[in-house]
Amino acid sequence: MPDKLLKYSAWSLLRGALSGHRNWPPAWRDATPPAKADVIIIGGGGHGLATAYYLAKNHGITDVAVLERGWIGGGNTGRNTTIVRSNYLFPESARLYDFSLKLYEGLSQDLNFNIMLSQRALVMLAHSRHDLDSMSRWANAMRMNGIAAELLNRDQVAGMAPALDMSPTARLPVMGGFAQRRAGTARHDAVAWGYARAASALGVRIIQNCEVRRFVQESGKVVGVETNHGRIRADRIGIAAAGHSSVIAKLAGFRLPVTSYALQAMVSEPIKPILDTVVLSPGTGAYVSQSDKGEIVLGAMLDLFPSYAQRGSFAVKQAIIAAALALFPCFSRLQLLRQWAGIVDVVHDSSPIIGPTPIPGLYINCGWGTGGFKAIPVGGWTFAHVLATGKSHALAEPFQLERFMTGRLIDEAAASGIAH
Ligand SMILES: Cc1cc2nc3c(=O)[nH]c(=O)nc-3n(C[C@H](O)[C@H](O)[C@H](O)COP(=O)(O)OP(=O)(O)OC[C@H]3O[C@@H](n4cnc5c(N)ncnc54)[C@H](O)[C@@H]3O)c2cc1C
Repeated sequence: MPDKLLKYSAWSLLRGALSGHRNWPPAWRDATPPAKADVIIIGGGGHGLATAYYLAKNHGITDVAVLERGWIGGGNTGRNTTIVRSNYLFPESARLYDFSLKLYEGLSQDLNFNIMLSQRALVMLAHSRHDLDSMSRWANAMRMNGIAAELLNRDQVAGMAPALDMSPTARLPVMGGFAQRRAGTARHDAVAWGYARAASALGVRIIQNCEVRRFVQESGKVVGVETNHGRIRADRIGIAAAGHSSVIAKLAGFRLPVTSYALQAMVSEPIKPILDTVVLSPGTGAYVSQSDKGEIVLGAMLDLFPSYAQRGSFAVKQAIIAAALALFPCFSRLQLLRQWAGIVDVVHDSSPIIGPTPIPGLYINCGWGTGGFKAIPVGGWTFAHVLATGKSHALAEPFQLERFMTGRLIDEAAASGIAH
């Protein structure tokens, strides 16, 4: 039975306050595993939950079970540095990610849940003439794709991030850069919780601590899964398991062109507001922002070796702290509060895979690598479309698994480099 959704509003807040905040209903229903569902989604991260929500909302398919082996949002969705943007180079990627950003712009209203979207701009730093040249190509490509981008000179960069070291002796000289003003950050937990709440209200079952261990196949078709809570049958099954996609593909009997790496991030102790934009230095792989709580958030490049250990290597940690402090020497006395990593699913062209697998009845959404948080709305929207209709959504058409056979890669890895 669908939950009755309590509409969050100033009035409900007041009512909650008057009752001492003791009567808030749970935001979503912790469901028990059914024996059968129309659709099973493996993975309760942002992509899995958004898929369930759009299956129910856009396609009227509400008999959906989201199976999450841990807790929802406990994978990369709750581990990322929360940057949203659509500054890609190729038209296929620009269309996909800008649709996502547009959905993000209306998501708090749509979900009736504050996802704390903050369009504080993303500034890419150019440290050399070569960076300046490639950034003007990049910004021009964005404009040709209908996405606003602004080339910045040195003074404009300094104006947007006054804490940057712009002195003549700076170890990483800043010669200019470019900005996407609509880019920024959103609260990652809120995105997972908002989708979970809205999906649950439409009748979706969210089942935590439920690990998929095997597929049930009949006549070559996938017809269900075996979990630690028993067997669940379904007409269609979607995988949205990020860094563990190839492990699950192996259970089903096919291989994915995905390599899993640890990607790490860290935050300092909280300080007063000092940085109100996101600063990314593609030359070093470091990027820096300040969270709403005041922590300085540092993001990094991938670890250089495949791994499922959610720790992150010391070498990358050291390189990223060194780069961030070269950019912002004023942060050098901050205490590091937390460091963590997530396992990301990297595809050779750094573009996602959204569509059918070689196994009938089984579909996959993966390959978002280091940059799938910003893509949660569009990943869910397009994955729900293929699960509901059996046909690829126009935005997802170029991102099929078969591109690795036809060679029609969308090589954002080579084009726009670091992909957070
Ligand atoms: C440190 C870091 C920084 C990042 N920064 C950014 C950023 O700034 N911007 C951006 O756009 N992206 C960023 N990303 C990438 C982004 O977080 C991911 O691409 C995105 O969250 C993927 O979402 P998902 O729902 O596919 O995966 P996840 O959130 O990882 O969800 C997959 C879920 O599948 C579950 N699962 C796995 N195996 C099974 C099984 N057998 N049975 C049941 N469940 C299973 C897992 O427990 C997990 O909860 C970052 C990632 C990391 C790690």
